[in-house]
Amino acid sequence: MRALLVNPWVYDFKAFDFWNKPAGLLIIANLLKKLNIKIDFIDCMDRNSPYYLTKTKTDQWGRGKYEHEVIEKPDIFKNIPRYYKRYGLPRDIFCKVIDSLEIPDLIFITSSMTYWYPGVFEAIRILKDRFPTSKIILGGIYATLCEEHARKYSGADILFAGSVADRQSDFYEILGIQKNELPATEEPMPDYSVYNKLDYASILTSKGCPFSCTYCATKILCPRFQTLSTNSILTQLEKLVNVAKNIAFFDDALLYNENFDQLLTEMIERYFSFNLHASNGLHCRYINESIAEKMLRAGFKTMYLSLETIDPNVQKATGGKVFTNEFMKAVKILYDAGFRSEQLHVYILLGMPGQAHEEIIESIKLCHQLKVHPHLCEFSPIPHTKEFEKTGFTEDTDPLYHNNLFYTWYYPEPKPEVYKEIKNLLSKRIT
Ligand code: SF4
Repeated sequence: MRALLVNPWVYDFKAFDFWNKPAGLLIIANLLKKLNIKIDFIDCMDRNSPYYLTKTKTDQWGRGKYEHEVIEKPDIFKNIPRYYKRYGLPRDIFCKVIDSLEIPDLIFITSSMTYWYPGVFEAIRILKDRFPTSKIILGGIYATLCEEHARKYSGADILFAGSVADRQSDFYEILGIQKNELPATEEPMPDYSVYNKLDYASILTSKGCPFSCTYCATKILCPRFQTLSTNSILTQLEKLVNVAKNIAFFDDALLYNENFDQLLTEMIERYFSFNLHASNGLHCRYINESIAEKMLRAGFKTMYLSLETIDPNVQKATGGKVFTNEFMKAVKILYDAGFRSEQLHVYILLGMPGQAHEEIIESIKLCHQLKVHPHLCEFSPIPHTKEFEKTGFTEDTDPLYHNNLFYTWYYPEPKPEVYKEIKNLLSKRIT
């Protein structure tokens, strides 16, 4: 048996390689290899792709801009005065690469943001045309959150909602493999050996989150908070020594993981020399002196904190994951531990239904006051969340309406003045 694994393009107005790797697809690569199934792997978003080396710059932590091609805007976006782009591997090179491959029996294609589905559909169209007898299995976030849309319109033969790691028996059923033929069960980890060159790897120490923020899909994608074994994570890290200089922890609730402290101790004792990054919004509530000091010693270079807003009513109404005093205390602890201003970053959410822009301005000002770097997270209405219900959208709404830039700045009408004010404030240098 032979399988082709594809991470398709991003279709959007903006995209940046912020330590993004297709974790689910890399886990599939691992599982297939264990079964001695031959695989081909194409990551359209790999900036070090052997098929097309990007000419864009990579920053000191391994991140950078994607190559892109400007493409025609869908009607919904016609009035947005921005270019709509296909980010990643140029389309003609993708076609040439798949032309050179042996016919696979199965094609696994993943998906990410719901509103990036046009890139997924385009890849499926090309793959179906080239490999009409291969079975195409579509999984990932879009396939999970917009299952009906994907079933109706994607062209995939099989829809795989949810996580492969959690639905391993369904996954093996697709392969036509009986339970007694399975290799010994262990936590499936992403297989990074499919990449030619890595500037970074993204890893998880846990899945899911104990909180239920009204705008977040984590509970839908991963209903239960689960920790991964420290030994498996260390084994994964050992494999990445001399392979990737940067490691981004992509956990939704990294500090809630009670094994994280032990992991840090082990990492310090093994003298790993990675640059570590907490990229996914740390819970300020769980930052204490001991963990801050250990994270610094273990090699954390960038720390992204979740604040979202300083409005106490909004904080409470959206799930209470952080309050302003906890945020301020966490920043002080991090400074006291030895982190510097340029290492501390803060996520601020804007564009939620009914959210006042003054609240965003005040949140940014607080960051400036504390000399930490604010980053805007434009709201995307994600199906099945409480905030989605407030938008008036339904499951039948085209997922393009979930586009965060479109929804925040242009829906239902453009907000140029607010945009200008917030962007001006954000561009202020922190000294
Ligand atoms: S704390 Fe973060 S990951 Fe958890 S539900 Fe809230 S936004 Fe999602």
